[in-house]
Amino acid sequence: MNATPLIDEPAPGTASTVTDGCHVLVDALKLNGVETIYGVVGIPITDVARVAQAEGLRYIGFRHESDAGHAAAAAGFLTKRPGFCLTVSAPGFLNGLVALANATTNCFPMVQISGSSERHIVDLQRGDYEEMDQLAAAKPFAKAAFRVNRVADIGLAVARAIRVASSGRPGGVYLDIPAAVLGEVVDADVAAVSPRTVVDAAPEQFPSPAAVDRAVSLLAGAERPLVVLGKGAAYAQADNTIRAFLESTGLPFLPMSMAKGLLPDTHPQSVAAARSMALRNADVVLLVGARLNWLLGHGEPPQWSPDVKFIQIDIDPGELDSNAPIAAPLVGDIGSVMAALTERSQRIDAPARWRGQLAERKARNAETMAKRLAADAQPMRFYGALRAIREVLHDRPDVYVVNEGANALDLTRNVIDMARPRHRLDSGTWGVMGIGMGYAIAAAVEGGGPVVAIEGDSAFGFSAMELETICRYRLPVVVVVLNNGGVYRGDGQNPASADPSPTTLMPAARHDRLIEAFGGTGYHVATPAELGAALTEALASGRPALIDCVIDPADGTESGHLTHLNPTGVTAPPELSSAPITKE
Ligand code: ADP
Repeated sequence: MNATPLIDEPAPGTASTVTDGCHVLVDALKLNGVETIYGVVGIPITDVARVAQAEGLRYIGFRHESDAGHAAAAAGFLTKRPGFCLTVSAPGFLNGLVALANATTNCFPMVQISGSSERHIVDLQRGDYEEMDQLAAAKPFAKAAFRVNRVADIGLAVARAIRVASSGRPGGVYLDIPAAVLGEVVDADVAAVSPRTVVDAAPEQFPSPAAVDRAVSLLAGAERPLVVLGKGAAYAQADNTIRAFLESTGLPFLPMSMAKGLLPDTHPQSVAAARSMALRNADVVLLVGARLNWLLGHGEPPQWSPDVKFIQIDIDPGELDSNAPIAAPLVGDIGSVMAALTERSQRIDAPARWRGQLAERKARNAETMAKRLAADAQPMRFYGALRAIREVLHDRPDVYVVNEGANALDLTRNVIDMARPRHRLDSGTWGVMGIGMGYAIAAAVEGGGPVVAIEGDSAFGFSAMELETICRYRLPVVVVVLNNGGVYRGDGQNPASADPSPTTLMPAARHDRLIEAFGGTGYHVATPAELGAALTEALASGRPALIDCVIDPADGTESGHLTHLNPTGVTAPPELSSAPITKE
């Protein structure tokens, strides 16, 4: 390909055309189909963003690097191609690193490109502007980290970053480009040979026939089989193959939170509403892109039966046996493995007795949930607010739901049904706070929106300044802040002094006024009816909006469903806690 010239073509017989590192970088990204870069500009990468824009790439400029990084990670999850994030040296780089580490933890492909300061000064620790050995700092937090020392190597570095981020278990890759390399001027013909195309970035990986037979035999002999769909299954974009396998076998399935919508939550085979019972009683479990980590109780009692046998599909052989023993490993990409399973699935079915037991529990739990949702408490509580959101979203399966918080996360996950794959993005494997606006922006940019971000008031605070980004790019994002005035809940007491308690946030804060500062539409609501009307109007407008929902400060449980993880077990006094919440 031809490198983009930095200066006009010279007259014949004069010096050759030259270009620089910024242009070569953009050429390499373009050649590999990168369309969008998320970032925050500053020394030394501002010109990279300018050149990218001039060359037809979209640059989305954020207010904080971790939000830009989270957007790139979400783009990776949504598109199955690495999302790109651009950061400045040292502090900007470190801000972005949180998102890179989170992407790696969640198995999302992402590349963080960071400018860095002068190598010969940094390496001798002579005290440069934003001095830091960024390559060393990034290594423990990324799947891989590379530095480019010559313009001619930029194409190789970009290709390597894309390959490593996408293939095998996807993850975050760090690419360090010192300022001197970005600014280095080289002959255009030298630069032209640098960019290269990555062919088949994540090749298919087939399981062996023996491994498939082993898994089929186990499933065929099961009395209480269960399929768990994880976000790896959503990521794999093998939607039709997974659906064909489940519907041809009739097996009950349980979606992890970001796999919701892979098959609609209303699908008769979904046992999300009987989660605890299904886990406790299943005798053979097929894990599809879901790890047996803390989110699945490490595959051990009391969440699981002591005799349960696991079949695990994963692209990463090192994942197998990382917790409970895996009786039938299926190493490969989910599309290929599920296709192979479907081919030999004639012997598999779901015993009627087991299906009946699950259906009975589902019906009972659905009744309990309906009662909780119907209760019209004043002031409004989480369930009342979520009922209103659920009713509006029921008719809008196209909406991407972004969700973070403690109670706001736990309850939304259970109440809001999803109907389409990869339409729910949440706190993920770490249960991290701060992904909200970054993920919402990526969903709007990559998926075209509309997006509804359902946020606890505390969680929202981590990325709230990105409301300006949402308004600047006129993105169809509606933020719903479930505002109970605190971390977990808003009625914390400090008996020792006049300072607010550690869990108290500003009572009666008006988050709606934040978006008004940037030209978006703010709503302030106190009842489910007002919330439903505001959400309907905001979605219909297609414009940025924020709905601040007044929630009873006494509603909410400390640490949501994770109270048991507090080291001292200390939680709000029982008389202050809301009714116990079950997972089902
Ligand atoms: P959840 O939190 O939803 O349970 P996890 O993030 O724990 O999901 O698990 C996702 C798993 O999916 C990871 O172990 C990852 O290696 C695996 N994975 C990701 N993409 C693929 C793919 N294309 N094929 C097979 N496995 C995949």
